[in-house]
Amino acid sequence: MLRWILMLPTLPPEHALDSLHRAFVERVAALGFAGDIDTSYATRLTLATDNSAFQTLPAGVFFPRDEADIVRVASALAEPAFHAIYLAPRGGGTSTIGCSLTAGFVLDCSRHMNRIVSIDPDAREVVVQPGVVLDQLNAALAEHDLFFAPNVAPSSRATLGGMANTDGCGKGSRIYGKTSDHVLATRVVLTDGAAHVIDSREGAPAPDARIAAINDRVKSIIDDNRGEIARVFPDLSRYLSGYNLAQAVDAKGHCHLNKLIGGSEGTLALVSELTLKLTPIPNTTVLYALRYDSFDAALRDAERLVEYDPSAIESVDEKVMGLARDNPIYERVRDMIENADGSTPGAVNLVEFAGRDALPEGANRLDAALNNDEGGATGHYRAESAERRAALWDLRKGGVGLLGSTPGAKKPLPFVEDTVVDPRVLADYVADFRAILDEYGVAYGMFGHIDVGCLHVRPALDLTDPADERIMREITTRVRHLAESYGGLLWNEHGKGYRSEYNRPFFGEPLYGALGDIKRAFDPRNQLNPGKIVALEPERVPIAAMDAPTRGTFDRQIPSDERTAFPGAMQCNGNGACFDYDPAHVMCPSYRATRDRLHSPKGRASAMREWLRQLAATGQTTADLVPAESPLWLRAARDLGAAPTDPEADFSHQVWQAMDGCLSCRACATQCPIRVDVPTFKSEFLALYHGRYARPPVDYALAGLETGAVWAAKLPGLANTALRVPALRRILADKLGLVDPPALSRPSLPAWLKQYPAYRYTPDGWALMDDRERQRTVFVVQDAFTSFFDAPVAIAVVELIAALGYRPQVVPFSASGKPLHVKGFLPEFERTANRHARVVEAVAEHGRPLVGIEPSVTLALDTDYRQAIGRALPVQPFEQWLAAALGEQAPSVVADASPTYRLFNHCTARTESSASSRAWRDAFEHLGLVLETGDVGCCGMSGAYGHEARHRDTSQAIFELSWAETLAASTPQPLVPGYSCRSQIARFQQKTAQHPAQVLLAALRA
Ligand SMILES: Cc1cc2nc3c(=O)[nH]c(=O)nc-3n(C[C@H](O)[C@H](O)[C@H](O)COP(=O)(O)OP(=O)(O)OC[C@H]3O[C@@H](n4cnc5c(N)ncnc54)[C@H](O)[C@@H]3O)c2cc1C
Ligand code: SF4
Ligand code: SF4
Repeated sequence: MLRWILMLPTLPPEHALDSLHRAFVERVAALGFAGDIDTSYATRLTLATDNSAFQTLPAGVFFPRDEADIVRVASALAEPAFHAIYLAPRGGGTSTIGCSLTAGFVLDCSRHMNRIVSIDPDAREVVVQPGVVLDQLNAALAEHDLFFAPNVAPSSRATLGGMANTDGCGKGSRIYGKTSDHVLATRVVLTDGAAHVIDSREGAPAPDARIAAINDRVKSIIDDNRGEIARVFPDLSRYLSGYNLAQAVDAKGHCHLNKLIGGSEGTLALVSELTLKLTPIPNTTVLYALRYDSFDAALRDAERLVEYDPSAIESVDEKVMGLARDNPIYERVRDMIENADGSTPGAVNLVEFAGRDALPEGANRLDAALNNDEGGATGHYRAESAERRAALWDLRKGGVGLLGSTPGAKKPLPFVEDTVVDPRVLADYVADFRAILDEYGVAYGMFGHIDVGCLHVRPALDLTDPADERIMREITTRVRHLAESYGGLLWNEHGKGYRSEYNRPFFGEPLYGALGDIKRAFDPRNQLNPGKIVALEPERVPIAAMDAPTRGTFDRQIPSDERTAFPGAMQCNGNGACFDYDPAHVMCPSYRATRDRLHSPKGRASAMREWLRQLAATGQTTADLVPAESPLWLRAARDLGAAPTDPEADFSHQVWQAMDGCLSCRACATQCPIRVDVPTFKSEFLALYHGRYARPPVDYALAGLETGAVWAAKLPGLANTALRVPALRRILADKLGLVDPPALSRPSLPAWLKQYPAYRYTPDGWALMDDRERQRTVFVVQDAFTSFFDAPVAIAVVELIAALGYRPQVVPFSASGKPLHVKGFLPEFERTANRHARVVEAVAEHGRPLVGIEPSVTLALDTDYRQAIGRALPVQPFEQWLAAALGEQAPSVVADASPTYRLFNHCTARTESSASSRAWRDAFEHLGLVLETGDVGCCGMSGAYGHEARHRDTSQAIFELSWAETLAASTPQPLVPGYSCRSQIARFQQKTAQHPAQVLLAALRA
């Protein structure tokens, strides 16, 4: 059949700003805004979603550097010309119900305003900017033996500004309370264009005139509505966020505006600084895992368990337990949760007691009761060590990810995720809740903070189906009625967001009017996150409601085949795990270095999704765009001297920018709870994009890297001398876009093998071997990086295999195609992969182990090859073979076992295979050597990314963030299995890092 090959059409970025919004941006800039202002379509799209089902495109984003910047934005809002402009503040963007989504501007405090201003351990107080992440704060407080007690599950990226404005809380809230219970004072910027202090502590300076006036107004609103407040506000420990009228004025008549700011979802004030109360870290903790036959039995036991006064009771239902069984997480908890007959229990309650220096007495009482078989549990485990407790909590925390990664188009969605009822009626309530969900035939899993009656449920829906959008709203409305019939609430933990429509019926007219008066007192022109919580001018901005456009509304415009072909881009649910602040974690290095959310897996998935949608709108699909094939040299010649592209002219250029920033480190493919695999769709996009648009010259240089290295290695001296000539280095950088090219090894591995022909594999040599020799053979599959640029490492591996009594046989070099895949030369990659597969599979037929040295290349032979040629090559990482081989030998202690070592493992090795670090540790242990392992992030090189001139600075920033300090602080000698990582150390620290095989070999020879 004739197949038309079409060219990628121009996709003009949609939704250009109107003149008023453009004028506002210009005005803020003219006022001296020092942060970043971004109105690009790609960035707006990235911030058009959070973890909720909804999608709303903002007009643009302000990233303030400090409070003065927020004042600049607010004073522009105060100018009459801009009274129609509105904005929503944003932190980590982890809201599950669209709290920070807006069609106005976004004020994102997470990029620059993330400084811990001061810590006063004696007063147990800390002052933070609003963009500080919860884990970041607690890491800084740990040395003072203090912590910020309110907890939210996404603590690696949720900010204190966001927590304060949703009144966030989670595990432990029954004894520690919510965020608003720990906010002592705030600095806020109001739409009058000025900064104010809200501090109602005793002895605090008198408030300024504006805050005093708001105090008076709030008191009178509350005085006028006391009866209704007492009648409507429920008597629950979690209480009610947005706006907490019941606690805003105390018994003495003092007004506490921070109780109103708590949970106000950015509708009252822009918080620019918070003073927070701190709590001593409990140092004695025990966690019980109680097993039950059913979730119902677990819930019914909650009432009894609360009487022991634990710090937390959390529950996991049979669905989550079932999913966990097939997940690696299960191995870590199996012996703690399984029934005696090896079956998985129907549900588990995790009951934690935490104290200072001694356990609370309730722990002993529970212990006694469990030993007497009191209560509904069928068995229990008492976890004392931090490691065991963490494993159990990981099972509970992993619930959302386990549910989210289930196959199929229906995905769990958080819209009735945080209802609360009195824990004493929870079991009956859940039975009724389940009946509603069963009526709609939706799948779901349940877990939650059952000590406070808060239940987490994410029913699975496919919002690309309009019927499921309707079901989402219907279920929400029915669950709202159900919760209220049990004296509970629909919204308890995650804010109101698009569920604000239920405020009016819940509160009734008088109190809804009071909410409007509160809003007016702070924000009379309705410019802060309008439509959330209360709608002052519904005709201008209506109340945020469940029938707002969802992500599905847009996704259904993409043909279903296309959606299936790009699962990574489609399935990102915006939970934000890829915004993890911790530089020791591997995902996502490009985000962490740039603090630009477009340069995260979520940003890339959002851009790709929209690109597919726009492409579909032109009547084309990616299948139509398969580029015509032509030789690489011809394409390189065509692309030479191509004019620079204008990102504003074609949305495809913005998507390219997002993809180009990706290091293809693959951390997202394993660490994202949904396994959003950016490198795969990045390669596919690049292949299609460059079917029309020119490639940068460096792409062609990298495409030829593997074969080029073979040729250059024939005259390494000449090549190295040339690469040292400054003029040539300048030309490489300026014209080719290649910096700091590494020197070739002298000799390379193939050259060294000429002196040791016994180590070279040839079919003839194999034919001459006897059976004994064959049984000792281990094949080494070469990679271009170690063979040509770091041959001492490859040689050490070969010699180590020999020193252990095996016969190394180095397979002739054949290109793996890894750089081709990274750069999206997909047809060439497929051909190279097939060639390499023929070489490797011919050797594999001999039935002996094949090992690869460079982690990223070895793992690509599995993942990338599966996708390109439909099968993985049977090459295992060297350390896995090594640990297994040593395991078969008697332990031998080397002469000098005194030094200890620290493994700085390659991030791909760590994430793709959790066994890698363990294998190295086991190998060292076998020889009586101590190898410490620990977390370290990405080194910033990732293949050749760091050698591309346009990525050099980001590459260095990643190295400084994740590696430089940890290396400097490492007393044990660092050992570095990754070639990329060793070359980063060489270029930024001028040091030669050793590979673990080199140390093992030296130890054996000593
Ligand atoms: C997987 C998952 C699990 C979750 N579990 C919990 C949980 O256990 N407990 C819990 O409480 N929540 C939970 N949440 C919800 C969410 O994490 C919390 O609401 C969190 O407090 C939001 O913080 P953020 O920085 O992401 O805020 P955002 O989502 O960015 O913003 C939240 C609200 O705060 C406002 N805001 C942000 N910064 C400012 C500022 N400087 N000034 C004024 N207003 C501001 C925004 O306008 C918005 O209305 C969960 C979310 C996910 C994805
Ligand atoms: S890419 Fe993964 S981790 Fe990041 S927001 Fe999407 S689903 Fe979450
Ligand atoms: S491959 Fe690495 S750099 Fe690219 S999006 Fe995933 S985690 Fe980020």
